Amino acid sequence: MTIVMKFGGTSVADAEHIREVARIVRERLARKPVVIVSAHAGVTDQLDQIGRDAVLGHADAAPLAERHAKLLHDLGLDPSLLAPLLHEIETLLKGIELVRELSARTRDMVHSFGERLSVRTVAAHFCSVGIPAVAIDAFDAGLITDSNYGRARPLPEAEKKIYETLRNIPGVPVITGYIGKDLNGHITTLGRNGSDYSGAIFGNALNVEEIQIWTDVDGVMTADPRVVPLAQSIPEMTYEEAGELAYYGGKVLHPATIQPAVAKKIPVRVLNTKKPVSPGTLIEQRVPGDALPVTSITSRRGVAMLNVISTRMLGQSGFMARLFDEFGKREIVIDHIATSEVSVTLTTDAHSDLESIERALKEIADLEVERGKATVSIVGRGMRSHPEVVSKALLTLHQAGIAPQLITQSALRSSLSLLVEESQASAAVRALHQSFFEMAPADIPRAARAGA
Ligand code: ASP
Ligand code: MG
Repeated sequence: MTIVMKFGGTSVADAEHIREVARIVRERLARKPVVIVSAHAGVTDQLDQIGRDAVLGHADAAPLAERHAKLLHDLGLDPSLLAPLLHEIETLLKGIELVRELSARTRDMVHSFGERLSVRTVAAHFCSVGIPAVAIDAFDAGLITDSNYGRARPLPEAEKKIYETLRNIPGVPVITGYIGKDLNGHITTLGRNGSDYSGAIFGNALNVEEIQIWTDVDGVMTADPRVVPLAQSIPEMTYEEAGELAYYGGKVLHPATIQPAVAKKIPVRVLNTKKPVSPGTLIEQRVPGDALPVTSITSRRGVAMLNVISTRMLGQSGFMARLFDEFGKREIVIDHIATSEVSVTLTTDAHSDLESIERALKEIADLEVERGKATVSIVGRGMRSHPEVVSKALLTLHQAGIAPQLITQSALRSSLSLLVEESQASAAVRALHQSFFEMAPADIPRAARAGA
């Protein structure tokens, strides 16, 4: 098996898309693909809602069953194909209605049906058009995980298990994304949008030549095309850039996705199911040739800025440790930090329980919390040899009337992040995209052109 092809929810949204997926896979049969699929678009959200309704005593799985029945009908497949799984959901929901309780473990079980249903439909369609395929639940293909429900990670033994299990499968395995099982046999999920991660886990275990992430956009773009109409597809980028982009709000890849691919330096290609001939984006360890100063511009909303003002011990050893410990205990992730003599400014997800941090730190610091912020990030390996990117970015924002409140640049210098008001995030992305990507070379200051 030499390639992994992962298809996201929108790529398998309806019968028409599933037919297209079959055509795409058929053209690549010589590369012995392993196919990973998500639930049909919207199904995981629907399952999540049904689970919550069950806790209140009124679960209704009928719309879900109807959607899947329609898919089977539209694809001309056996209408009873999914009956056992749909029955299983009904039983599970009855159980939840009885106990009126939905633990993280049970929620994972509820969510798992999305992918378990979709692989069966997709594989049956493949078979009906002459592609020898077999539907496999990831946990039957060796994906064993820890028991962190809702954000499980594969155990080290998974790699060998996956390899051993899939080695001798005849035909094309069509495997569930997003889910696994822990050592007690309970179903786990890898976190929302986790199917890309599954793709990378299987690609790593099988030592494939390439992991293909098939989605509904032309690869990774220079900016979110909904914000910037002139955004372009990026032909090539490094793992490091992709990781930074995902972290700073790029929607195309799950942040942890890249890890299993990076571990074995497996190239990841992001492709468009609606336009299979376009080359998409190739993500690799190293990209030959000169890099442009900037690869992509992204933003992340829902950020809170915290000013920690020390009442007595900033500058003394142990203060930072104490501060971060409070975040660590609550599993709140800190994104950016700037320090001065009397205060520490940091950013985090605005949904975090910051009030409890405030209480915990009362004796040593005052905390000012400002929500409604966004980080706008400029990512590019070329920034290392183009220090003028920083001044150009600040000047661009200044001209757009936007004053960043916190500026951070990573030591690797492949990203620059600017904290702005959430209401200014789109304007900031547009202005930066215009000045880094849309200006004719003559408009670009000489320094920015050098080596580009
Ligand atoms: N179906 C899951 C979700 O919607 C996983 C995925 O699509 O990647 O989050
Ligand atoms: Mg997805």
